[in-house]
Amino acid sequence: MPYEPRQLTINAKRLNETIHETCEWGAAHRWGDAPTETGMCRLALSDDDKLVRDWFVKEMTNLGCEIKIDQMGSIFAIRKGKKDGPPTAMGSHLDTQPTGGRYDGILGVQSAVEALRTIHDAGLVTEYPIAVVNWTNEEGARFPKSLHASSVWSGELSLQDAYALCDVANPGVSAGAELDRIGYKGTVLACHKANPLAAHFELHIEQGPVLESHGQRVGVVQGGQAYKWFNIRINGRDSHAGTTPFDYRADPMLAASQFILAAHQIAKEHHGLATTGIFHLQPGSINTIPNVVEFTLDIRHVEDEQLARIEEDIRAASVKIAANDNARFKCTIDWEVLFDNSATKFHPLCTGAVEKAACASVPSEQVRKIVSGAGHDSCATSRICPTGMVFIPCREGLSHNPREFSTPEDCALGAQVLMDAALLFDSQRTA
Ligand SMILES: [Zn+2]
Repeated sequence: MPYEPRQLTINAKRLNETIHETCEWGAAHRWGDAPTETGMCRLALSDDDKLVRDWFVKEMTNLGCEIKIDQMGSIFAIRKGKKDGPPTAMGSHLDTQPTGGRYDGILGVQSAVEALRTIHDAGLVTEYPIAVVNWTNEEGARFPKSLHASSVWSGELSLQDAYALCDVANPGVSAGAELDRIGYKGTVLACHKANPLAAHFELHIEQGPVLESHGQRVGVVQGGQAYKWFNIRINGRDSHAGTTPFDYRADPMLAASQFILAAHQIAKEHHGLATTGIFHLQPGSINTIPNVVEFTLDIRHVEDEQLARIEEDIRAASVKIAANDNARFKCTIDWEVLFDNSATKFHPLCTGAVEKAACASVPSEQVRKIVSGAGHDSCATSRICPTGMVFIPCREGLSHNPREFSTPEDCALGAQVLMDAALLFDSQRTA
């Protein structure tokens, strides 16, 4: 018999209590008077991260789950099904940004925990095993690689490189050493071949304003947008600000300003995004034209082809900017690619299950097909196994901020859709 959505109902009160109780480990940045009105600072592999991991392992063991910890410290809590096989997983992350909120990642794991509690209470035995996964260092805030452990699992990052990554605030401390210190360097190979999943479902707050601004309650995520990161270096000629006429200058700061404006305009024309988030210039003197300016460029689009067009057009514009016909001295522009991530398309079996589950809980006008603007562990798993995501709105689209907030009702709705989608997928599995 296929599972019917809403055959089981999650316990909304228990879910919301668990979210806030477990946020005591890492609560920071108070913004209101109520006990729950703080943000979070629960950096990956910190003492607070260890405490919430210990809680998670204990809780899932109590529900009869087998616990597997892989070499990257990702925790797989697996509940047996009628048949053996790779589990249908529900996963996200318990680590946060340094000035994070109570929902990003946390909601995904705690909703999966609530789903398993509900399944356990009902005595339901799934067709195949079902699992909750806590992925290590999704945020990449402390160890600067987002989707850190899920990328090792998917084979996009080597274990050696993953271990060698150092704490941004303390370069003497590596991720490998911290895994050892908190006792979460497991023995299960951090690899999808050794530790496979049949599917991965994830509930997440949208982290943007689309659902809220349309008065909609559930996003059926179709995939993630493509993005590419560059370091741009513009070389000019340092010279005196008072004695160098404009046409004698090779001013990399002026070129950088034109570059950034052009990037924005081009990205806008293609319905993409462009951002400069890091910026340095040398020598940094009030009366000297700089000799070198370096900055990052982050470009994004839902289609790989359009992202390539954006890059092409910005490169063409930068050639013109550097050539500056009005000056006798020219700048040169060097591009370095830092990161290249193609667009992610989620599996129709998973998006279909999420959509069916969503429409069983709310009217279809309140359900929206949506593309994720941010990276998630699901983007890594989608390269290996069928993957689907559920979004719920968050207040003002705010995330990576202590004031991040989703209503208890929306959290419960998201958890219900997550559980229903995973159970639907499980009941339709043939292997
Ligand atoms: Zn997240």
